Formats: sequence, structure tokens, C-alpha cells
Amino acid sequence: MKTFSVEELEARRKALLRQLRRAGPLVEGSLARVERRCGTPGCQCHQGGPGHLQVSLCKKVAGRSHATYVPKALHETVRQWNQEHKRVKAILKEISALSEQIIRTYVSSRRTAPQKPRLRRLKTEKPSG
Ligand SMILES: [Zn+2]
Repeated sequence: MKTFSVEELEARRKALLRQLRRAGPLVEGSLARVERRCGTPGCQCHQGGPGHLQVSLCKKVAGRSHATYVPKALHETVRQWNQEHKRVKAILKEISALSEQIIRTYVSSRRTAPQKPRLRRLKTEKPSG
């Protein structure tokens, strides 16, 4: 596996951060088509007929599944928001992985460096001015 320098990793991270800045509206969850029974007692869906197909946006909240009904007029829009969420999530994951790699690279380069930089003590008193 090729090892990258901190500069290379930072350049890649910077490019990903630029992509993040271009992010559009997004929504978390997975879109599911579910069959539902309506509120009309005489409807065929209550007489053993097929239910009404509707689209829901599903996600887990604290271990419990949570569904949000998506009206037909918003199907395409919500599908795009959902796709954007997946894209942004993948970018976030990669940025985080790169940051982790930068930390590790920094640590290992310090280990082999002839001189360790002295850490300056943080001052606790109030800044003057
Ligand atoms: Zn019905």
C-alpha cells in the first residue's frame, strides 16, 4: 500500500471539503414503497383488496423505525435529496478517514524525526488588550 505524505492527504481532504461546500438540500433515510390501508371503511383495501401504494422515507431513530409519508408531488424531489445525503455522507466518511490518516502519519513522522518539537505550555491567564 502506497503511503501518502501529510501534504498529499491534506490536498485530497481540501478537494473533498470543496465538494461539501457545493452540497444541496438533503434528507437521511431510505425510500420504501409500502402498501397501506386508507381511512375509508368502504374502500376495496378493507375488503381484502390490494392496499394503496405509497412512498415513505424510513429511518431508525434510537433503534426504532420511523417513517415519513412522502406525497406523490414530492417523490422525485425527495429521491434527489436522499441521493444527495448519500453523496455527502460518503464525502464526510472519506474526510474523516483522511483526517485519521493525517494524525497517524503525523505521529509516525514525529517518531522518526531527529528532534521532537517542544509543546508550548498553554497559558491560562486572560489575554491582555
Ligand atoms: Zn383504501
